[in-house]
Amino acid sequence: MPGFELFGDLERKEVNEVLDTGVLMRYGFDAMRKDRWKAREMEAALADRMQTEHAQLVSSGTAALTIALASAGVGAGDEVIMPCFTFVASFESILALGAIPVLVDIDDTLTLDPDAVEKAITPNTKVIMPVHMCGSMADLNALRMICDKHGLLLLEDACQAIGGSYKGKPLGSIGDLGCFSFDYVKTITCGEGGAIITNNPEYKKNADHYSDHGHDHIGKDRGAETHPFLGYNFRISELNAAVGLAQLARLDEFLAIQKRNYTKIREAITDIPGVTFRRVPEGGEENYSFLSFFLEDFETAKAVQKALDESGVDGCMHWLDNNWHYIKKWEHLKNKTSLGKLPQEVIEKLPDYHQADFSASDHWMGRTLSLLIKIGWSEEELQSRAEKIRAVVQGVMA
Ligand SMILES: *Cc1c(COP(=O)(O)O)cnc(C)c1O
Repeated sequence: MPGFELFGDLERKEVNEVLDTGVLMRYGFDAMRKDRWKAREMEAALADRMQTEHAQLVSSGTAALTIALASAGVGAGDEVIMPCFTFVASFESILALGAIPVLVDIDDTLTLDPDAVEKAITPNTKVIMPVHMCGSMADLNALRMICDKHGLLLLEDACQAIGGSYKGKPLGSIGDLGCFSFDYVKTITCGEGGAIITNNPEYKKNADHYSDHGHDHIGKDRGAETHPFLGYNFRISELNAAVGLAQLARLDEFLAIQKRNYTKIREAITDIPGVTFRRVPEGGEENYSFLSFFLEDFETAKAVQKALDESGVDGCMHWLDNNWHYIKKWEHLKNKTSLGKLPQEVIEKLPDYHQADFSASDHWMGRTLSLLIKIGWSEEELQSRAEKIRAVVQGVMA
């Protein structure tokens, strides 16, 4: 997944162009900036690549999710349905707005189970947020139909899946809004950064203003701008955008390497009895950032992970006990613990996740291993890694 493995001349050139001007701010400073607008340029390139009308670059993927929700008017007490296997940012962004994260089960796609989603809908539900974990997607047709039937928004968290597609459309472009992260370990990186894509001009305008203190961005003089609504500072800097602009230009190069490396490792274990692979919905294509596969049970998965670790194969995730990505270890969410006091409405409406039953998800999480696919491996490293993984998995399964 990590684009940082292949920094090169293009990234350096873009960064130097920003340093030459002294303008690190994405808005204003027109006279000084020698017409260099890296954030704007990356927004145009991203919208073009994702086949959407608009893109808004912001400071992180977490910010992108928060802003996407806010830009569509989601706020206090609104319920957002999301999977229990994701990154903590999903519920952070919802709670930041005083909205309520409603966690539901995943299925063998490793993201939202449409049946579980439908059962969780209440009169307060506003949004369905599938998370394309480890590079692949939920059954987005089914989720779109549920959204249309109930008048809900579809917001795709495509932070780990840039470059993947569903029925010919880029992941992120299928929902009413889509979000990407360009943090330090993502497929393309800005260091820290994120983006929202949408075809809705109102959401774009709201996102642009909300991420810059609510500035209306109509005047030439920043000091004369007014604030139609409250906002925050979720801006990206020109330096970060410069790195991202170079990386985005190289996205297809990175994806091709990812796919080659993924395919090689998948082929190495595909015929081992007891190994099966994550289900990709019909018409979907992963971005190949991880290879996720199932073993027969929790014990086997644990044993394979341990054996891989001991043989020096890094980047193998077993999700059930993972601190960052699965509900089992999210004590802070279960205990409703923040620094200050959460709003009373949030405390009351947030489900009791100590009691909730996620056994259907435990079933999949316990059996799943995900291997991180890097793009910096040499041919020899890839070959020896594939051989080692095959030998280890076969050894444990024998
Ligand atoms: C990385 C990530 C985020 C958050 O992105 P940041 O840029 O690190 O804030 C959100 N969701 C998922 C699924 C992620 O992997």
